[in-house]
Amino acid sequence: MKRILYFVAFIFVNTTLGQQIGEHKPGFVLGELPYALDALEPAIDKETMNIHYNKHHLAYLNNLNAALLEDLYVKEYGDLPLEGILLRVGEDHGVIRNNAGGHYNHQLFWNCLTPIKEKRVPSGLLLQAIQRDFGSFDKLKELLLLESKNRFGSGWVWLCKDLNGVLFVMSTPNQDNPLMARISNRVGIPILGIDVWEHAYYLKYQNKRVDYVKSVLEIVNWSYVSEQYEKEFEIGK
Ligand code: MN
Repeated sequence: MKRILYFVAFIFVNTTLGQQIGEHKPGFVLGELPYALDALEPAIDKETMNIHYNKHHLAYLNNLNAALLEDLYVKEYGDLPLEGILLRVGEDHGVIRNNAGGHYNHQLFWNCLTPIKEKRVPSGLLLQAIQRDFGSFDKLKELLLLESKNRFGSGWVWLCKDLNGVLFVMSTPNQDNPLMARISNRVGIPILGIDVWEHAYYLKYQNKRVDYVKSVLEIVNWSYVSEQYEKEFEIGK
């Protein structure tokens, strides 16, 4: 499966996306948070949310937009949508890797959380896939916790689907993600991302990353994750 994904990703990068290279790039924008800064309390406190969204996320976005004005990167990425940049980026373009990853990952993260209780339960096709691929919803949560615990240093924990809709859990270091076909150990389409950088939890949880992830798992917007699971993967939205 990994080989097939790489193959598809590379064909895509080298054909469809290639045609768009060299056009004008307007720059990416910071999407609005889908809830208030204090809406996820007590799981995530307002101050952490404020710094995380208004400082950390914004910095990745600004750095990405600034880098994409440089000639080298204009030639390489043109006006590619964010997912296209992630598929194409290699280890040699660190500034793009870190900041395109940082922007994409945080956008997904905000959308994957919700203050609305009714949205916090998986159902339908996603629930069936979870039961098929992990045994149960509880087992999936255990795996996400374990992966969070085992990720050394800064990074992300992911629930992904492959091109056949099979689910798997993985993690990546720093701001990498599973769409980075030239970098990631495993390629997949992320449908849930959990930020396990210390900046995501240190104010409230200090060194207790597992406690933080347990709290995050209580506020996941499974309704949104379900939409990501069911829809066709698109480059650019
Ligand atoms: Mn973060």
